[in-house]
Amino acid sequence: MADSLYWADQIADSVIKERGNKKKYTCAAGITPSGTVHIGNFREVITVDLVAKALKSKGKDVRFIYSWDDYDRFRKVPANMPNPTLLKKYLFQPVVDVPDTTNKYKNYAEHLEKEFEKYLPKVGIKPHFIYQSKMYRARKYAEQIKEALLDRRKIAVILNKYRKEPLPEHWYPVGIFCETCNTDETKVIDYDNNYTLTYICRCDNKTKTTNFKKQGNVKLIWRADWPMRWAYENVDFEPGGKDHSTPGGSRTTAVEIVREVWKEEPPVYQMYDFVILKSGGKISSSAGDVVTLSECLDIYLPEIIRFLFTGKPVTEFTIPFDEEVIKVYEDFYETERIYYNVDKLTGQKKKHYDRVYEMSCVGKPSKKIPVQFSFRQAVELINIYKTVGEAQKQIGKDKRAKLILECAKNWLDKYAPEKYKFSVNDKTPKIKLGKGEREAIMELGELLLKKHYTAESLFVEFGNLADKHNIERKNFFEAAYRILVSKENGPRLAPFILAIGKEKAGKLFSKV
Ligand SMILES: [Zn+2]
Repeated sequence: MADSLYWADQIADSVIKERGNKKKYTCAAGITPSGTVHIGNFREVITVDLVAKALKSKGKDVRFIYSWDDYDRFRKVPANMPNPTLLKKYLFQPVVDVPDTTNKYKNYAEHLEKEFEKYLPKVGIKPHFIYQSKMYRARKYAEQIKEALLDRRKIAVILNKYRKEPLPEHWYPVGIFCETCNTDETKVIDYDNNYTLTYICRCDNKTKTTNFKKQGNVKLIWRADWPMRWAYENVDFEPGGKDHSTPGGSRTTAVEIVREVWKEEPPVYQMYDFVILKSGGKISSSAGDVVTLSECLDIYLPEIIRFLFTGKPVTEFTIPFDEEVIKVYEDFYETERIYYNVDKLTGQKKKHYDRVYEMSCVGKPSKKIPVQFSFRQAVELINIYKTVGEAQKQIGKDKRAKLILECAKNWLDKYAPEKYKFSVNDKTPKIKLGKGEREAIMELGELLLKKHYTAESLFVEFGNLADKHNIERKNFFEAAYRILVSKENGPRLAPFILAIGKEKAGKLFSKV
């Protein structure tokens, strides 16, 4: 097989080249659950998943680990949680010890973690989760903490290269959660070059000691914690957000620290850019001004969410919530048709589309092309029949089509611009029409009650009627929409009338 040009395949090649030819590779993702885990954070996880998928296509085993840094300090009371007064009392404590004020989960960190974790399998992602609070409290990293403390001057020299103000002479790359107040408002004052640290805390100013081989209240600062985990877990690939990727940023220093302190080579890296949201009007998110994976799953098929993320990680891209949602579905269907050779394409372009499609699928692509049910049509059916159940009766039992109806319903409820929403009138509205218009519409009503039509033959009939009654076609259509939905426009009229039902539309028109 020729080398693929697809970015995840190229990273997989680099992983094998740089990390040596192994049977199994470790790919890692990590997020601090400090606020709602949003779709921008999801890019970290899916970037790893796509590279893991690429490694698997090369016959490699992959261990996909996902670290929750829930032993980070609670820095800020979030705006979207109840009882901020209570939460404020937990500032500077580990996020894992902050209560969940919604009372749904054991603690604040778990709330954020589970609300994200439960949606990952829907998009085909099943990592092995590691909780940093558990690892630190079980003293799993005691030796690594000792190594970092003994090498603290080397770490300080590396960090100082990129700092304006050098670190103080007596500086330690750790934070300690006070045994009295549980905050990390503490200061290390001595180290015995073994496992014991002496510290004071703001809460009582008393001198205390902790043995990090026995007590789990010491953690490495982020810039030392990250390279430590590369070494501890033997990570071969881990991406990082733009904020970690600046020169002198945490990736730069982690590379130097892992070599200096743990004598290991850093994993292959990939920076990923932001995800932008595009709304026609409001994006009202339960999570504040961010959108979550679950909210994207409300309006997009899982394979389409993956599809949106298949572009190069270094490129910013947009997830539309406005009418462009329709186009995203169409773009995905086009890729799908190319993959199944319904639309013909050859050469490198075809290869690229094929790879993007394989990467988009949750699992392996099916043998036959799935039913491509149009999102626009789903929106129309929901407008007409109001519920997913009723709309589904019109289209049969296809599973994906049902999911699209659900997405269309959510989109209409939460994000659709007004022009996409309508209700079919139960009674003929009283409206003013010109003489020719009224006659043309009335005749259309009678014809619908008598004759059989396809969308094509009905469309021809519109033209005939407009000509016969000597009116502009534009006015004919406008009159029809006003009768049906009390608006001047709507979905394409012929299929729309057939979707409403010839009889129902016929009655509305004939009573004009
Ligand atoms: Zn204290």
